[in-house]
Amino acid sequence: MGKHLIVGAAGQLGIELMLALQDKVGPEQVVLADIRPIPHPSAAKSEFVQVDATDADAMKHVVERHEASTMYMLVAMLSAKGEAAPLDTWALNMQPLLHALELAKGGLIQRLFWPSSIAVFGPDAPKRMTPQTTALNPTTVYGVSKVAGELWCNYYHEKYGVDVRSLRYPGLIGFRSQPGGGTTDYAVEAFHCAAQNQALTCHLDAQERLPMMSMEDAVRGTLELMEAPSEAIKIRTSYNLHGCDFCPDELAEALDRKGLPLAMTYAPDHRQAIAGNWPDSIDDKEARKDWGWRANHDLEGLVDHMMNGIRQPTAGA
Ligand code: NAD
Repeated sequence: MGKHLIVGAAGQLGIELMLALQDKVGPEQVVLADIRPIPHPSAAKSEFVQVDATDADAMKHVVERHEASTMYMLVAMLSAKGEAAPLDTWALNMQPLLHALELAKGGLIQRLFWPSSIAVFGPDAPKRMTPQTTALNPTTVYGVSKVAGELWCNYYHEKYGVDVRSLRYPGLIGFRSQPGGGTTDYAVEAFHCAAQNQALTCHLDAQERLPMMSMEDAVRGTLELMEAPSEAIKIRTSYNLHGCDFCPDELAEALDRKGLPLAMTYAPDHRQAIAGNWPDSIDDKEARKDWGWRANHDLEGLVDHMMNGIRQPTAGA
């Protein structure tokens, strides 16, 4: 078995996946790639390659040179940032995925993970317990690119037998890095502000309910999906995945119950329009049935987990 290559390893999810994989398979079996250096000391334990994932030849070289057989292709421009540069977002969210699928088609990569998002859903999908199969008419370029990416994954699986696996992550909440331009960023910011006794101006409405998940759950789900036998994976577009759901008001109340009052004021901006078209909660029964998915953290558990993490002296490290 070859090495595990994380592309986009310097990002929010990449750093968490790096730590989990270093623990699981050993740092020497993990290769890290990103266009920028990785702001975490544990990155030094594994090989790092600075590479532009939109460059097909460079990506092929990295895979061959480092003998990678499993790839996690995490590179993307996120939802809120993406609206400022739609064509750049389309290019960044499509090209690295297509290069990865081509490498898998050619047999260099044997198992590929690529994340989708709840952003695939638009205003005509049911908002509560949004089902796996429903209308996918997103209103953001990020959502459009995720729908297209899901269809490409399914196409390469059906046509060429590529073993590609994907999850529709909700808003991901972790304490190790700063958010990267998503619509759910306020929730990560809320924990840091509460810990530092600072006020927060929230960019969403107080009652805007969204599906969310701890990074710990997201990384565990990703590794469980990747370890499942191929025949268990019935969905090759992307699996719905649910952690918990809450609105900004409820997060502030939950923090208050833990003795961390947060002064939150509301100034909804363009991100509220994006969030308003997304689901309130997700039905993930296929992921449960096919490969045994169960979230560990509800809102209370998420608050405990985040505050413990933020208080560790090495939280940002
Ligand atoms: P992020 O923005 O924190 O990280 C993306 C990484 O990609 C960055 O480190 C960036 O330097 C790197 N990158 C950008 N352009 C590159 C290029 N040309 N070549 C190589 N590297 C490049 O994003 P994230 O939050 O870690 O998200 C990772 C994945 O998960 C994305 O596909 C995203 O769509 C998906 N996702 C994230 C969330 C969330 O809440 N964070 C929710 C749903 C889905």
